[in-house]
Amino acid sequence: MANPEEMWQCQTVNCGYIYNPDKGDKKGKIPKGTRFEDLSEDWKCPICGATRKSFKPLAGPGSVKEA
Ligand SMILES: [Zn+2]
Repeated sequence: MANPEEMWQCQTVNCGYIYNPDKGDKKGKIPKGTRFEDLSEDWKCPICGATRKSFKPLAGPGSVKEA
């Protein structure tokens, strides 16, 4: 089970997709167990196509809750 610090949420309007490293991203061919930090620079949100910069961690520094 991933910690909230390791789960990242897409911040674009009407999306809210959460990247869970335990699941990876089937659509983006990201295998289970891949940390968000290890995703390639050109990885995009499988729902809305936002870049990695549009994501924030669920907890920890710079997180959704702190914003
Ligand atoms: Zn998105």
